[in-house]
Amino acid sequence: MKISIEGLNKIYKNGNRALKDINIEIENGMFGLLGPNGAGKSSLMRILVTLMKPTSGSIRVNDLDLMKHRKEVRGFLGYLSQDFAFFAKLKTWEFLDYAASLAGLNKRVERKAAVDDMLENVGLYEVRERMANKLSGGMKRRLGIAQALIGDPKIVVVDEPTTGLDPDERIRFRNLLSKMSQRDIIIILSTHIVGDISSTCRSMALLNRGEVVYHGSPDRIIEEAKGNVWQISATNAEFEVIKEKFHVISTIPDRDGWEVQVVANNIDGFHGINVAPNLEHGYVYFMEYKVNNSFSESY
Ligand code: ADP
Repeated sequence: MKISIEGLNKIYKNGNRALKDINIEIENGMFGLLGPNGAGKSSLMRILVTLMKPTSGSIRVNDLDLMKHRKEVRGFLGYLSQDFAFFAKLKTWEFLDYAASLAGLNKRVERKAAVDDMLENVGLYEVRERMANKLSGGMKRRLGIAQALIGDPKIVVVDEPTTGLDPDERIRFRNLLSKMSQRDIIIILSTHIVGDISSTCRSMALLNRGEVVYHGSPDRIIEEAKGNVWQISATNAEFEVIKEKFHVISTIPDRDGWEVQVVANNIDGFHGINVAPNLEHGYVYFMEYKVNNSFSESY
């Protein structure tokens, strides 16, 4: 599977330019689309799942032109939208059974096997008789991913999957996606939460104000931040200055003041040690030093 996005633009009727000349290639495995609120992620996702047309540009899925072959492409797409909700009073297994028939699983026996298998996979088999709208938030998200995955889609698009989940459920959901990405499919994960883009994403794009400002592996973005993440032992007074001058990532109180981690090219006037960057550091570094605008308000 391969998705090639070329020269994609989206201008809404009110003149909002949501996407500007997007060029991305996506291959099998998990692909992370990261960016602050308003970056254009949902617009891109909606175009990808054929719910909206771009203003210009092309998307090819293998050899199919998405705009000309919407129906065929829909046949191998699974989508979990940000505002996924249950529209009917159905039991958990009934809901999935319904999704399976929509996905083209017409034979009852085959469908039952697929539904049971999927319930097992997403850890909902035990609660299969429970009404879907009575499930916990995390379980609902897992049922959401189950309905997106049933019927063996080749491309699965997941929009802001962990919003509103508690930390345990968040980790569980990430692990589930990572397990699913072992299959021979593309999973596109769109999020403003850096932690959602795990190391299991083989590739990622960073979107900012409608533009792709980074496209590559998560490792490379981390690599770029090397030498620019500092740990400083600061007194209370120093901490006040540090907060003004640098982008503070984390603070831990210690006996005499604070252990502060900052992202900065240099920390003139302060003593600190370089620490190994993670993806969050990489993201902050990129947005602060590589992208030509002030830091996003949603961060
Ligand atoms: P994200 O998903 O990254 O938060 P969106 O794709 O929702 O970003 O939004 C990108 C930009 O397009 C924002 O400036 C947003 O206000 C604008 N936008 C989104 N949907 C519409 C719409 N239906 N009409 C006009 N502008 C829109």
